[in-house]
Amino acid sequence: MKKQYDVVIVGGGPAGLFAALEIVQASSLSVLLIEKGRDINGRQCPSRDRATNCANCPPCHVVCGLGGAGAFSDGKLTLTSQVGGRLKEYIGETAAEALIKRVDETYLHFGAADKLYGVGDGVEKIARRASLAHLRLVPVPLRHLGTENCRLVLKGMRDFLDPQIDLKLQTSAASIILDGNRIAGVEIEGGETVRCRYLILAPGREGADWLMHEARRHKMTVLINPIDIGVRVEVPYAVMEELTDVLYEAKLEFLSPRFDDRIRTFCMCPAGEVIMESTGGNDPVITVNGHSYAGHKSNYTNFAVLNSTTFTRPFSEPIAYGKYIARLANILSGGVLVQRLGDLMHGQRSTPVRIERGLVQPTLTTAVPGDLSFVLPYRHLTGIIEMLQALDKLAPGVASQHTLLYGVEVKFYSGRLQLTANLETEIANLFAAGDGAGVSRGLIQASASGVVAAREILRREKHQS
Ligand SMILES: Cc1cc2nc3c(=O)[nH]c(=O)nc-3n(C[C@H](O)[C@H](O)[C@H](O)COP(=O)(O)OP(=O)(O)OC[C@H]3O[C@@H](n4cnc5c(N)ncnc54)[C@H](O)[C@@H]3O)c2cc1C
Repeated sequence: MKKQYDVVIVGGGPAGLFAALEIVQASSLSVLLIEKGRDINGRQCPSRDRATNCANCPPCHVVCGLGGAGAFSDGKLTLTSQVGGRLKEYIGETAAEALIKRVDETYLHFGAADKLYGVGDGVEKIARRASLAHLRLVPVPLRHLGTENCRLVLKGMRDFLDPQIDLKLQTSAASIILDGNRIAGVEIEGGETVRCRYLILAPGREGADWLMHEARRHKMTVLINPIDIGVRVEVPYAVMEELTDVLYEAKLEFLSPRFDDRIRTFCMCPAGEVIMESTGGNDPVITVNGHSYAGHKSNYTNFAVLNSTTFTRPFSEPIAYGKYIARLANILSGGVLVQRLGDLMHGQRSTPVRIERGLVQPTLTTAVPGDLSFVLPYRHLTGIIEMLQALDKLAPGVASQHTLLYGVEVKFYSGRLQLTANLETEIANLFAAGDGAGVSRGLIQASASGVVAAREILRREKHQS
């Protein structure tokens, strides 16, 4: 590692990797990528491998390491600017769609599958049926990589970049260094400093807390996003089959009658597995997520139902709020809590015996049977139940007593930096991209946002020469 680079990138997830790809393909700028987790092949989640409770690895292999949270992810590439982030708010819808197409081509180049879900006649029919159940279907063209292929694709990108950039792994960026109102470099763990002319911060949800802390320290404007809190739902594969065969992921939105809150499905994993993740930087909490393998299938489908709430000032700590609720589930269960919907509706906790009697057996075998009403606020729980009842009209069986609910699922992308259309912060030559900056919420828009920042750097460099 040198002491001076043209560009330093913090975070080796899709946003950081795509920023690096764009720069090396168009210039000879020197690039350093700093990643706090391990290299892709060194990432093994012990709780998943040994079916034990979350080991709280520092840092979590699921969300940290080269490839980012994306490396273990299900690899659903949602090819639209309508979901998965706010990129269109920065660069406009037409430019966002064009960029998403370009990013998709890169994924295809590195080995993504050709097959597209979510297009054709079947989609329109499902949208009509959804509207009769008071649900709005957001049609999304989608490519599914599967967890194992997602790693291979990201590994291909990593191997392409390796000879062309410097990679500093298992190293955290500790703080950013300014020269007046211009970026000057970054201090890494242990106190070493690296100087640079441009810095791209792409630390993902894992580093969102850190990013917001740095932003506040340097008096940057932080906007508040809605908080997404909910549960992961697990049902027999057949219950969702009609939808997932056509759409792969049914992105459905609902307004809860009781509170008028926006509730939505998120990250549907047909024939998948529910998993645990430990997230939140130096102060981690255990939350729940899901994925599907391309080759290995379970008998169940899982998906999140999330309640999006926008709080108003003086509230300014959405990440702390989300962690507080996740921690309640951790205190009660030691990690992730699971409850049958029937038990929740009858006001009783689930027990191992009740779960065993049910038709759905947890794919997350370490989840502890309990009572979600001790964890989730009444308002969130009411909205989730109301949405499951509406979903039951579209996919009968969703609101069955056997349906499993795992808690809690929280998305920590609630703070958002004030950024220009090129994703530059209020500090000159300091860019922020991906989920951590609040720009994206998925692989495609995270990748695209890295390209936006990189292109602006390239434009400025050409301009100067
Ligand atoms: C289990 C799971 C399944 C998912 N499934 C899908 C899916 O199917 N489709 C989809 O579109 N999205 C999915 N996602 C979300 C997707 O992975 C993210 O939206 C995407 O990875 C965000 O990219 P990013 O580059 O912004 O951040 P990340 O991928 O989170 O990468 C950020 C990186 O920065 C590193 N970092 C953080 N702080 C620092 C620091 N201070 N110094 C150095 N490095 C740091 C982290 O270790 C991490 O590797 C899933 C996520 C998970 C966890």
